[in-house]
Amino acid sequence: MSAESTVTIGLLLPDVLGTYSDAGNATILAQRLRWRGIAAEVRTITARDVPAASCAVYVVGGGEDAAQHFAADWLRRHDQLRRALETSAVTLAVCAGLQILGQSMRDASGQHYPGLELLDITTAPGRRRAVGEVIATCAVPGVGSLTGFENHRGVTTLGPGTAPLARVITGTGNGTGTGETTARYRTEGVLTDRIIGTYLHGPVLARNPDLADHILHKVTGQVLPPLELPDQAALRDTYLLRGRFFWLSRRG
Ligand code: GLN
Repeated sequence: MSAESTVTIGLLLPDVLGTYSDAGNATILAQRLRWRGIAAEVRTITARDVPAASCAVYVVGGGEDAAQHFAADWLRRHDQLRRALETSAVTLAVCAGLQILGQSMRDASGQHYPGLELLDITTAPGRRRAVGEVIATCAVPGVGSLTGFENHRGVTTLGPGTAPLARVITGTGNGTGTGETTARYRTEGVLTDRIIGTYLHGPVLARNPDLADHILHKVTGQVLPPLELPDQAALRDTYLLRGRFFWLSRRG
């Protein structure tokens, strides 16, 4: 990336998958670049647009089942964009956005819907909805604890070669585990070289700026200088505390 080039951030389908304010992730990425003197542009791509396939990074959010099946169909019809997600861009996919990148999804009536087949994951409905605060330990070195809010019924199973984004401390996450017997743990999200998938809303990058910087490092190829934002650090601590109390208060 040259010093004067602009990083383009594709905000995918906020008109369809915009229920949980995940569009804020695009704002966070852009602002953290600008604070470091790097030009950034958010390109909003709605269902009416011919999608740009040249963005450096794409973000896609969560939504209801019907909306996500529409979004999956729409993305499958735009092959250039699908190929960009597969081969050139970095993508942050949240909840329904994560589920549609997988092999398939099943709804409560047993019907199957095809995904984009970019990730070796499948999603089926769990027995009850997972709603609440999540704390998880991120697999990306240096990111530490993730905080977020989940609201989904889907349970996501990762294929054998697919790595989770994090290990759940409190909350549900993917709703499935990995590892052998005593070392078994509950997984959260998916992490590949190009795709960061998670069940966490918040928006997740507002609550977890180090995850945002991991994405920006991948996109720019630069080691980005840290940003000193005391208010943000305090807010993050509040959410991490809230996560612990949320589950304690549910037990009591
Ligand atoms: N509709 C999906 C589910 O319930 C995704 C929900 C979401 O994006 N928060 O699993």
